[in-house]
Amino acid sequence: MPPENNLADLGEFGLISRIAANVTIGHGVITGIGDDAAVTAITPGMQLLTSTDMLLEGVHFRRSWHAPYLLGRKSLAVNISDIAAMGGIPRWATLSLAIPKDCSLEYLDSFTKGFLSMAADHGVALIGGDTCRSNSGLVISVTILGEQLPELIIRRSGARPGDEIWVTGTLGDAAFGLSLLEQEGGTVETPRRDVSTYLISRLLDPTPRTAAGRTLAESGLVTAMIDISDGLMADFGHIAELAGVGGTIQVNALPISPAFQSASQRLSVFPCSFVLSGGEDYELAFTAPVDNRKKIIEITKKSGIDATPVGIVTSSPGVTVIRSDGSEIAPQAHGFTHFT
Ligand code: ADP
Ligand code: MG
Repeated sequence: MPPENNLADLGEFGLISRIAANVTIGHGVITGIGDDAAVTAITPGMQLLTSTDMLLEGVHFRRSWHAPYLLGRKSLAVNISDIAAMGGIPRWATLSLAIPKDCSLEYLDSFTKGFLSMAADHGVALIGGDTCRSNSGLVISVTILGEQLPELIIRRSGARPGDEIWVTGTLGDAAFGLSLLEQEGGTVETPRRDVSTYLISRLLDPTPRTAAGRTLAESGLVTAMIDISDGLMADFGHIAELAGVGGTIQVNALPISPAFQSASQRLSVFPCSFVLSGGEDYELAFTAPVDNRKKIIEITKKSGIDATPVGIVTSSPGVTVIRSDGSEIAPQAHGFTHFT
């Protein structure tokens, strides 16, 4: 056992107590960590929203890139994002960990701190979980519970032909950050401190769009919503499939960040695939009748985030990408193109 690792001495229950000691009592929590099951009170009239995501070392994250504090934040953020995409209010979470031998107590303390900081940012209470040993990598499984009035919950299936397609924030930052880490390096020990820091932080420390999602749902202005975890093409594709519609996306309308722009210029490429198909931005894509455009811009600004119309829902199936002159960009050209 490495000298810094006294997790074995502490044991499973010691670790749980250590996590529980840092948890503050949350909204509607009657009995939290410590009993056989948590007891929570749902707000009268609301329905329960439940979502689970797993993060596997080597599949979803690398310990060499991801400091434990940020990994803790991200493992809850990606779950909160699913509640945001339904227009819900995130309330409670469970955290299950399979921990390999080489994870030190210091590492887990830092992970927990990060997880609980994300929880505090979004009013989420940690109410339970499970803890065991892993014989391979670190496995993190989080379940998030949220709530919302039934008539305000936004589903993927609600998009209608003629609606506008919208996205919050900017697209492609996380994918660009990932490619910079892969190609140019940057580790927890030797982090990058340059113009690409923002892009990498979008990958390692994403912000779920809770306020925007909830505001949009409560406004009654939107018809369908999803969070962009697998890229706009794939995720709008899910809306299209479930709603039985298609879509046309205007490539020139897609919002990119100043950091994305300057990294493009530095490398003399415009990685269109990052904007269209890059994952892990955790922005929201939603649809709304054209007449609601002005009001949507107003209310999203108020919730502190920009939203941009990027296309139109069509009655014919399939999602196409077009230039400003109306010409179609072939799917194989959604990838890298030289920066002009
Ligand atoms: P059981 O054997 O009944 O499943 P456990 O010993 O696994 O109980 O868990 C004891 C308590 O600690 C439960 O309330 C459980 O939800 C909580 N718990 C276990 N692991 C974690 C964790 N990683 N984070 C938060 N709570 C946890
Ligand atoms: Mg258990």
